[in-house]
Amino acid sequence: MLKKLVLFDIDGTLLLVSNSNRQTLIDALTAVYGTEGNARSHNFAGKMDSVIIYEVLKHAGLNDDHIAEKFNTVKHTYIGLLKKKLRPEDVMLMKGIPELLQTLSERKDVVLGLLTGNFEGSGRHKLELPVLNHFFPFGAFADDAYHRNDLPAIAVQRAHNLTGKRFKAEEVVIIGDTEHDINCARTIQAKCIAVATGTYSSEQLNSHRPHALFDNFSDTEKVISCIVNV
Ligand SMILES: [Mg+2]
Repeated sequence: MLKKLVLFDIDGTLLLVSNSNRQTLIDALTAVYGTEGNARSHNFAGKMDSVIIYEVLKHAGLNDDHIAEKFNTVKHTYIGLLKKKLRPEDVMLMKGIPELLQTLSERKDVVLGLLTGNFEGSGRHKLELPVLNHFFPFGAFADDAYHRNDLPAIAVQRAHNLTGKRFKAEEVVIIGDTEHDINCARTIQAKCIAVATGTYSSEQLNSHRPHALFDNFSDTEKVISCIVNV
C-alpha cells in the first residue's frame, strides 16, 4: 500500500551539472535578448528557471513586458542548446543517489516524482544523461508555475492522477538542497529532508528547520528509514 509521495529536487540534490549549464543559459539570453544581464554571477540555487531569467534580465534594465514577449523563445533556445551541448561528463551524480533511487523504486509503499525549478525539457535532459528518468514517472516543473511554492500542490495532483491515491500533506516528502525546497514543503505542511550536497552548508540548511538533514545520501538504509518514518 502506498504511504509516501517522495519528491526530489534535481540540481544539488540528485546531481551537479558543470558550468556549461550556466553558459548555455547565458548563450540563450544573449541570442534572444542581446544581453546576458547578470547571469554570470547571479545565485541560481533553488530558484525556478523562469524566475532566474526574469531576475537577470531585470538587472540589465529590461522590463516585464519586454521579457515576457520573448520568454518562450528564450526558454526553447536554452533547452535546445542544452540538449546539443551537454555531455555525460558534464553531469556528476551525488553520492549514493543511484543506490537510493534503485532501492526506493523497488518499494511498494513509495511513489517517486520530481519537484524542480528546471523546465521539464532541461530537467529531463539532465536526468537522461545518467539514465535516471525512469525512476520519475511524473514531476512538477518551472513550466507549471512561476513560484516554487505552487509546485507541491501540482505534484500531489499528478501523483493522484497516476496512482489514484490522494496523498495527505504529512505523507508528502520533499527532498532538496536549499531553503527554497524547505519553504515550499512548508507551504503545504509536507515533510522536508534537506541535503547539504549543493551550495548550502548543513548549518545554513539547519537554520531553516527541515524535518531531517543529511550531509549526503551515501547511507542508503539510513536515508530510506528517514523517508518512510519522517
Ligand atoms: Mg537544488
